[in-house]
Amino acid sequence: ALFRSRFPADTGRPFIEVPDDQPGGPRVWSYADLDAATGRYARLLADLGVRKGDRVAVQVEKSPESIVLYLATVRAGGVYLPLNPAYTRAEVEYFLTDAEPRVFVCRPETAETLAPVASAAGVAALLTLGTHGDGTLPERAAAGDPAFDTVPAGPDDLAAILYTSGTTGRSKGAMLSHRNLSSNALTLHAYWGFRPDDVLLHALPIFHTHGLFVATNCVLLNGGAMIFLAKFDADAMLRHLPRATVVMGVPTFYTRLLAHPGLTREATAHVRLFVSGSAPLLADTHREFSARTGQAILERYGMTETGMLTSNPLDGERIPGTVGFPLPEVELRVTGEGGAVLGTDEVGTIEVRGPNVFSGYWRMPEKTKQEIREGGWFITGDVGKVDGRGYVHIVGRAKDLIISGGFNVYPKEVETVIDAIPGVSESAVVGLPHPDFGEAVAAVVQRRAGSDAPAEADVVAACKEQLANFKVPKRVFFVDELPRNSMGKVQKNLLRDRHADVFG
Ligand code: ATP
Ligand code: MG
Repeated sequence: ALFRSRFPADTGRPFIEVPDDQPGGPRVWSYADLDAATGRYARLLADLGVRKGDRVAVQVEKSPESIVLYLATVRAGGVYLPLNPAYTRAEVEYFLTDAEPRVFVCRPETAETLAPVASAAGVAALLTLGTHGDGTLPERAAAGDPAFDTVPAGPDDLAAILYTSGTTGRSKGAMLSHRNLSSNALTLHAYWGFRPDDVLLHALPIFHTHGLFVATNCVLLNGGAMIFLAKFDADAMLRHLPRATVVMGVPTFYTRLLAHPGLTREATAHVRLFVSGSAPLLADTHREFSARTGQAILERYGMTETGMLTSNPLDGERIPGTVGFPLPEVELRVTGEGGAVLGTDEVGTIEVRGPNVFSGYWRMPEKTKQEIREGGWFITGDVGKVDGRGYVHIVGRAKDLIISGGFNVYPKEVETVIDAIPGVSESAVVGLPHPDFGEAVAAVVQRRAGSDAPAEADVVAACKEQLANFKVPKRVFFVDELPRNSMGKVQKNLLRDRHADVFG
């Protein structure tokens, strides 16, 4: 209902454009198309038995129809539950068994494999959706009546369950209410100064909060258009930048654009706002991007459980290596030992509170109790500080903290030293099991393309010069590329597993 109230007066205006160089393109979905299609899909879901609170699980490729499905699920009173298309059959089995959806929508090509998994999990209806608007979902919906009375929803009703990225362990289902989603979208739409003619270039996946809620909900509140790319590709990005005014990306988008000779001041001249999030943006990347394009990337910080929490300012200094100020609706504090609230520049656990914070993990009441304090403060698991000017700095994740010989080592501090060594593109510092120290510091280093320096001894020497001995890596490994997930997050758990026996 909120989104509908923001539709443009002329509902013939475009909402999603799939360009001709994309699968299924060229296609344009207007707001009128969106309204009719969400009505038809919602009718079908209701006919399949979806009632208030029922989950609709979805594992499909990115397409305008999958956005329609998200909105239709919510219109039908259901709970949208998107899954990464990369998940295997066994992983899907876990999610379906955990979430017990009423309806499951998958790709036409995986339907046969997943049908037994779905029925074992008690799914009432299995539908398919392909990238070209094909599949049994659009087919069956096509004949229906586009007029559908949206099931009324209260602020506390669930709108979605999004599973976290699984960077630190098994993914958890975050229960997100209508209040959570709408309050965060309204805040971001205002904070980032959306304008009536903004066109967002959308190359993010839409099973994750960044592409689904941050990007799409801002566009919907704006009644504006987005150009939909199936996935990130530097050539395609540069082809469509001249028509875009807003780009939202993960840090790897920016490093890959920087590696492309076509990234120039002229190529980005039409864009008013580049946003980065979901993983730390190296200060170097920020600076290089400014030097090449004259544009200061706006870095923000958020989580599946909370939506967006902090942002660098639209007007005002965007400081590389910081994630900016707490958003207007968000309270943020840093705590130490025993939950004591810390002061300026003191490093500790980041806790947040606000209408954007989720109500708990799906079917994990114990975990929910551990992470949401009395009074509504959510313990993010991120470690950071607030500086004298109010900018928030993320130092890393609590789970990545290394305790070596009884001393705490924050990986970010060591990574910053290594990243500054000529020839280094990026590094990841992890703790590995060690018989004497408990954990030993180790570094995994990705060199710049074409560089065979530094060597292990150079890295160790540079660290010794700047860091206390217990922080200096005892081993340095080199890789062509750090392992990352689809949001560009470095997967430190894989690195820890790979090198687990080094000090054995
Ligand atoms: P899991 O909770 O399953 O281990 P995850 O935390 O990676 O996975 P997400 O909810 O997708 O799952 O990611 C949120 C996390 O991403 C934050 O807690 C934070 O660690 C990181 N993050 C997001 N934006 C930024 C940023 N701008 N800078 C640094 N870290 C960020
Ligand atoms: Mg997390």
